[in-house]
Amino acid sequence: MTMTPTKLDLDKAERRLLIDWSDGSRRAYTIAELRDQCPCATCREKADADAQQEPDLLPIISPEEARPLEILGMQPMGSYAYSIEFSDGHDTGIYSLELLSEIGTEV
Ligand SMILES: [Zn+2]
Repeated sequence: MTMTPTKLDLDKAERRLLIDWSDGSRRAYTIAELRDQCPCATCREKADADAQQEPDLLPIISPEEARPLEILGMQPMGSYAYSIEFSDGHDTGIYSLELLSEIGTEV
């Protein structure tokens, strides 16, 4: 049986998302972690490219990345996923319930 969220809570002070699941568990997700786990093709390609980079290269941080990241909105996509809009302008990530039930930290 697939777990479904029963409650979504954006904790702006702690900069994290809290999801209550149908099995009674509650998971916390930092905004950075969610952004990092973005499953869209662009981000997965970038993650692969980063992994292959020379380790001694200094990372370059764009102004968008330097600003504290926020979640501007979350939209349900059917009954199986959510799209998340981030303050860096990225909104093409579709987070399946399966992915969301695997990442984050149980609290
Ligand atoms: Zn992405």
